[in-house]
Amino acid sequence: MKNESEFALDASKHIDHGKIFVISAPSGAGKTTLVGLLRERFPLLAESVSCTTRAPRGKEVNGVDYFFLSSDEFFKKREEGLFAEWAEVHGNFYGTPLDFLKKQLDSGKDIICDIDYQGAINIKKAFPEEAVLILVLPPSMEELESRLRLRATDDPEVIKTRLHNAKNEILHYPHFDFVVVNNDLKVAAAQLSAIISAHTDSSIFHNMETIKKLTE
Ligand code: 5GP
Repeated sequence: MKNESEFALDASKHIDHGKIFVISAPSGAGKTTLVGLLRERFPLLAESVSCTTRAPRGKEVNGVDYFFLSSDEFFKKREEGLFAEWAEVHGNFYGTPLDFLKKQLDSGKDIICDIDYQGAINIKKAFPEEAVLILVLPPSMEELESRLRLRATDDPEVIKTRLHNAKNEILHYPHFDFVVVNNDLKVAAAQLSAIISAHTDSSIFHNMETIKKLTE
């Protein structure tokens, strides 16, 4: 049986930094929609804005959707060690600014990152305590293919490549802490919310004040 001071010691290990929720998914699994819903549900989550060498699409805004950089600018930042992780995805380079992550974590804020599986694995290496890796999957390859076709933004060759890449991405599932199958958008959003709540609102760290008051 533990005495009171031992319990106090146990509690101190829960006074930690914020969490980094990394959401990865094969293209067409519905990640963008789900991340949008999570932003509404958890307005205090800080969103990491990545740097990329890809050109802006549609209404994308520099500094909001991405920091759009030339290849030279991107490689210079990479050399200077300014990225927490970087990866080449579908022929373009992407990187997560390290400074932003550190600042948010130091101020106790939780962060959400929408990055590919390579980035997810590297974020876990850089922040093993803080990173929570979530893989969003489509219910089947047939469904993924039909969603990619419905999107009508890619030509058939690109869809073929994306389907091939999807299998490779999914095979990295053992690196992830959670898997959410997006069969029904509402159910998937609820599952993602539950994972985030369990690490934030319902964590011991977030409830220390109440615990202290209750045990005074
Ligand atoms: P898109 O160009 O369609 O916005 O994104 C293509 C892929 O790059 C998506 O899987 C997205 O999650 C991933 N991605 C976006 N930002 C980053 C990043 O900073 N690092 C890594 N590793 N992947 C990223």
